[in-house]
Amino acid sequence: MIERWMVAPATVPFSLKARAACRSCRRYGKKMTCPPYAEPVEYYQKLLPQYRFCAVLFDVFPVSVCGEESSLKIAEKVQEVVSSLREEGYYFILPFGAGSCKVCKNCENPCPFPEKALTPLEGAGVDVVELMAGLGITLQFPVRDFYYRVGAVFYG
Ligand code: SF4
Repeated sequence: MIERWMVAPATVPFSLKARAACRSCRRYGKKMTCPPYAEPVEYYQKLLPQYRFCAVLFDVFPVSVCGEESSLKIAEKVQEVVSSLREEGYYFILPFGAGSCKVCKNCENPCPFPEKALTPLEGAGVDVVELMAGLGITLQFPVRDFYYRVGAVFYG
């Protein structure tokens, strides 16, 4: 079950190392919402603390579940939360996915679905390992039997 835990936006940890790790992703440079096309880390460092709330959405998956499937599951939940926040009257909402955007098979520039497209939390420079450690959850490396997927919605 996907968990939804609240954190204070100003406490979300950033690291240039998180962003640098994107270079080792096979989708680096292939998604309009990922580095090097995503806004710089400094932009998110200034922007994210301006929101009043941050819902961290995460789940743990066995390694038998592929990265695409787990990423899509988190993305679906993220979009569900965004819709319910809109219903509640929030108008400043910034969602992030877990891993690169998986909406289209082939990413296009300009993105035809900006309302569905998600930048990965780590692609914004958020240190997801530290973020989860702050919630009392240790992400283990190397990945063996299971792995976490983490997205977030900033709002308010
Ligand atoms: S919605 Fe499609 S075109 Fe837009 S960033 Fe995601 S994969 Fe790329």
